Parts: sequence; C-alpha cells; structure tokens
Amino acid sequence: MKGVIYIMLKKEKSLTIILSTIILVALLYVIFSLNKLNVPTSSSNINSKNGVLNFLYFGVFLIVALYHLCLYIFRTEDISKLYFGCLCIIMSLRTLIVGNKYFLSLYPTLNYILVIKLQYLSIYLAVFFILSFMFILFKESSSKTINNICKLFCLFFIATTIFISPILASKLLIIFQFSSMLLIVYATYIILKAYRSQNQKIIIILIAFLTTIVIISMSMLHYLGINNVNDYSLLIFFFFILLNIFILAKNQSKAYKKIETLAKQKEQYCLREKLCSATFSLNSTLNLDEVLDKLLISLKQIIPYDSASFFMEENSQFIVKSAYGFKNINAIYKIRINKDEDLLFKEIYKTYTTLLVTNVKEDNRFNHYINLTDIESWLGIPVIFNNKIVGLLTLDSSKKNIYTKNHCDIALSFAFNAGVAVENAKLHGKTKQLACIDPLTSLYNRRSFFELANKIFDKAKSSMQPISSIMIDIDDFKKINDRLGHHTGDLVLKRLSKICSQNLDESHILGRFGGEEFIVLLPGTSFKKAEMVGENLRHAIENNPLIIRKSDTIPITSSLGVASITPTTENLEYLFTSADKAMYQAKAMGKNKVMSINLDLRIQKKA
Ligand code: GH3
Ligand code: MG
Ligand code: MG
Repeated sequence: MKGVIYIMLKKEKSLTIILSTIILVALLYVIFSLNKLNVPTSSSNINSKNGVLNFLYFGVFLIVALYHLCLYIFRTEDISKLYFGCLCIIMSLRTLIVGNKYFLSLYPTLNYILVIKLQYLSIYLAVFFILSFMFILFKESSSKTINNICKLFCLFFIATTIFISPILASKLLIIFQFSSMLLIVYATYIILKAYRSQNQKIIIILIAFLTTIVIISMSMLHYLGINNVNDYSLLIFFFFILLNIFILAKNQSKAYKKIETLAKQKEQYCLREKLCSATFSLNSTLNLDEVLDKLLISLKQIIPYDSASFFMEENSQFIVKSAYGFKNINAIYKIRINKDEDLLFKEIYKTYTTLLVTNVKEDNRFNHYINLTDIESWLGIPVIFNNKIVGLLTLDSSKKNIYTKNHCDIALSFAFNAGVAVENAKLHGKTKQLACIDPLTSLYNRRSFFELANKIFDKAKSSMQPISSIMIDIDDFKKINDRLGHHTGDLVLKRLSKICSQNLDESHILGRFGGEEFIVLLPGTSFKKAEMVGENLRHAIENNPLIIRKSDTIPITSSLGVASITPTTENLEYLFTSADKAMYQAKAMGKNKVMSINLDLRIQKKA
C-alpha cells in the first residue's frame, strides 16, 4: 500500500499527463462522433436552456484545457499549466455526463454504472487538480506534507470509487463532501496566508479562489439537500476560468515586457563588453602605428560600417592617419581637410559631439567628397582628450538609416577611450625619442646606438654580410673650447653632426659616442668601401669650417679610424675597439687622417 502511495506521488506528473491525454482523446472522439450522428435538432433537450449552456461550457472548458496543455508542452517547467489544463478537461467531461440528458440520450448504450462512476470521479479529480494547481501557486504559504495528505485523500476516493458499487460510491461521496470541508478550510488558510505575506497583486487570484471555494461549498450543500440554491458550479467555474485567463494574459504580457527589457539590457551589456575589449586592445600597445591600426578594426566590432577613417590634425590641416574598407585607399590618404572650411568638421567642432547624417546623397555638405556613390549613412565622431579634439573618426555605410542615437553614444564613449590611447602612444613615442636621441646633436645617443647596432650586427652575422665601423674624433677640440668658449664648442659639435649626416647613406647609422667622438656603423659595407666613406667624411669635415661671422671662421679637422669585418663569431665590441685603435693611429700619425684595419685579413693571418 505504502509503495503504491509512493509511486502515485512520485509519478504524479506522468499519471496526470496520461489521464489528461486519455480524457482529451475521448472528448475529441465525442466531438467527432457528434458530427457524424444524425442529431434531431428539434430535440427538446438541446433547445432547453441547460442543454445549450452545457454544450457552451463544454466547448469553452475544452478549448481552455487545450490551450493550457499546449502551454505546458512548450514549457514543461510550469506544471501549474498542466494541472489547470487537466482541471478544465475534467470540467469539460463533467458538463457532458452531469445533467446533460441530451448527450446521454445520444449514447443509449453507454453503461449506466460507468456514467455514475464518472460523475463521482469527476468531482474527486476536479478537487485533486484544483488543489494541485493551488499548491503550486501558493507553494511558499502551504505545507508540503499537508499538501501531500490532501492529494492522497483525493486519490483514495478516486481509487476506491473505481472498485466499489455505485451505491457504495454514492455513500462515499457524502463522506467526501463532509470531510472536504477540511480541505476548504486549509485552502482558505493558505490563500489568506499568501495574501498577508505577499503584496496586493495577488488579490485577483485570491478573489478567484475564495469565490470558487464558496461556490464549491454551496454546491456541496446543494447536493446534500441543505441548500436549496441551484448548482452554479459550472457557471462559477466558467468565471474562474475567465479570471485565470485574465491573470494569464496579464502575466504573459508582463513576461514579454520583461523579455523586451532584458533583451535591450543584454544588447547594451554586450556593447559595453565589446567597448571594454576594444579599449583593452587599444591600450595593449604604446606604439602609435599599432594603435592607429587597431583603432578602426576595434570600432568595427562595436558599430557596423563599410568604410571608416581616422583624421588627425597636422599643421592646421586634418589628414587621414588610418583608413579601412575603401576601394581607393591611396586617394583617401591624400585627403586634406581644413576644419574651418569643411562644414561637417566645422559642426563637429562647434558641438563637440557626434554628427549623424542619414541621407548623404541629398546632403550638400558632402559635395566636395570623393567616392560617395555607395554611401547612404555617415557618422562623424570627435576624438576628445583633455577637452580638446585630437582626432576625428568618420564612418560610412551603404545602408540607409543604419545609425541610431545609441550608436552615437557608444561611438562617443569609444572615441574618448581612443583619444586616451592615441595621446598615450604619442606621448610614449616622444618620451622614447627623448631617451634615445642626444639632445645637442639630435643623433642617436650611445645607449640607443648600441642597441640598434647589436640588432644590425646579429643580422650581418646570420647573412655573412660584411659590416664596417668608423670612429670620428675632432682634433684639438679642447683648444676650441678653451679659446672660443663652451658654446662655440657645442656649435662645432652640431656642425660636425650635420656634415656627417649629409655625407652618409640612409643605411648608415650615426651616433654620438661621447664628448667630441662620433661613431658610424655601415651595414653591408666592405673594407674598401668603408675606407672611401671615411676619407669622404674627413674631406667634408675639413672643407666645411664653422662660420660664426663673416670674418670668424673656425676650421674643423678630425681623425678617423675604420674597421671592417665579415662577422661569424666575433662580436660588435671587437669591431668598435678596432675602429678606435685605428682612430688613435690616425692621431699618432699627425691628425686629420683616416687609418683603417681590415679584421678579415687579421683573422685569415691568424688562421
Ligand atoms: P685630440 O686631438 O687628441 O682628440 O685632443 P682633444 O682636445 O680633441 O681631446 P680631449 O679628450 O683632450 O678633449 C676633449 C674635450 O671635449 C674635453 C671636454 O671638455 C670637451 N667636451 C666634451 N663634451 C663636450 C660638449 O658636449 N660640449 C663642449 N663644448 N665640449 C665638450
Ligand atoms: Mg677625444
Ligand atoms: Mg679630440
């Protein structure tokens, strides 16, 4: 027995589904068979008020049942729909078998005992489903144990009615009706408890259930002969259904609204996420070229566009620093825009905010632009940093009205972040330059020269290419300083740097080695060629004295040491110390000379 109860409670859901399916199929069969039957339309029963009402209720309950069962099929998490659907099915069945003489007359062969039992069973099942429905709705304010006891109570009557005779069953019904007063008390208690603990919104459900309880009570009294009032259970159940449909529609529309808001929130959240990752990507580098490359690609993840460009101001003109998606990209890079003449740029400067154009073809502010045939929508976004416009983003799209206010807002947020990334990269570039460049001569300082030289030397090693170095030292520089002052000494240093730079190729690297010493690295240059370069430099220095005033000419001469090597295992220091040695040889030989050492020959001799 205990096992049966356990299975019944455990498998309640499956049993309910099976039962509702069977009754539903049976009811649908009845509808179809009614169609086929040759129904006497003049029947007194069908024309009677009750007969018509019964069929009306039957139809309404069945449709509502089908609707709720469908709702349950598509969302099985909400079992209350299943219970309500079953309740409607049972009530639909009840309209046919209780007091519907017309229907019963259509099926004269229908077993009388079966009809009686079905009538009783429909009461128990209706109470069972209405309780199950209620327990789901008021889960928090009801006790699970008492709920199960109530359900078992109904199940007991259902099971017993199936097996006992109709006379015994009718007596059992009286017991049920009396004892179900307790169920009504419990149900009322749950509803009132729920009303107290929850908010006012529950009031409709409350009214619906309480009315139902009152009507059920009245109907029971009617059955027992205590109350002379008619049995209004079907009518009340009809209103109960209407109220439920009202609640369902209200909840459903609330749910839709919530979904819509959530969808919008999700969209916003996704955009913010994308904005975050775009900003992260922009800030992952301090190299301006890389920032500019990433700028438009990151923006495409956030705002759709066909082509886009990023303008920056240089010499009071806006030039394209980065472009994406254009057919003729070279023409785009040639564009020069004056912010005081261009009406679009002028407006952005005036408002300091995004400018949205939805009909580019009809807007005469675009008259001077090229390649506009495909563009329908345009978005101009100022890139602001420190309250100043430091750049301008322009987005083009071939789709009409693609950009919204939301796009404008998100674009502006992106542009603020982009402004920070661009300015950081610019600042970093400047700082880096300052750290690498000798402030007096604007040549590479010793550290950065060696950094660069090491990389070039490693390349020469792997490609077995010759590499040369020239060390330059100004002759008697101390005397210039002593005689003409430190400032003039500085001018000499600047002069020599300029002469050397002018007489070297682009591939040659020139740096300030220290005080009045300079160093050159000549990648891919053989010993002979390097000697020629050295001699050229010496000659150029000698022939370009520093002229301060017309009458005041300061001659400059220098001593140079050249060294060449085809590196295999030797390091860079060996090359430089050799060039230095050669330079000292030139000093020893009487200055203003070029001395050279071919390290390849030395290595060969050693071998
Ligand atoms: P030598 O022909 O043997 O090379 O003699 P020199 O006088 O050129 O060489 P020395 O090493 O005796 O003197 C170099 C001088 O360069 C000493 C130093 O005061 C001066 N000097 C170093 N750096 C600077 C600088 O940045 N500006 C100026 N004006 N002078 C500098
Ligand atoms: Mg020196
Ligand atoms: Mg010197």
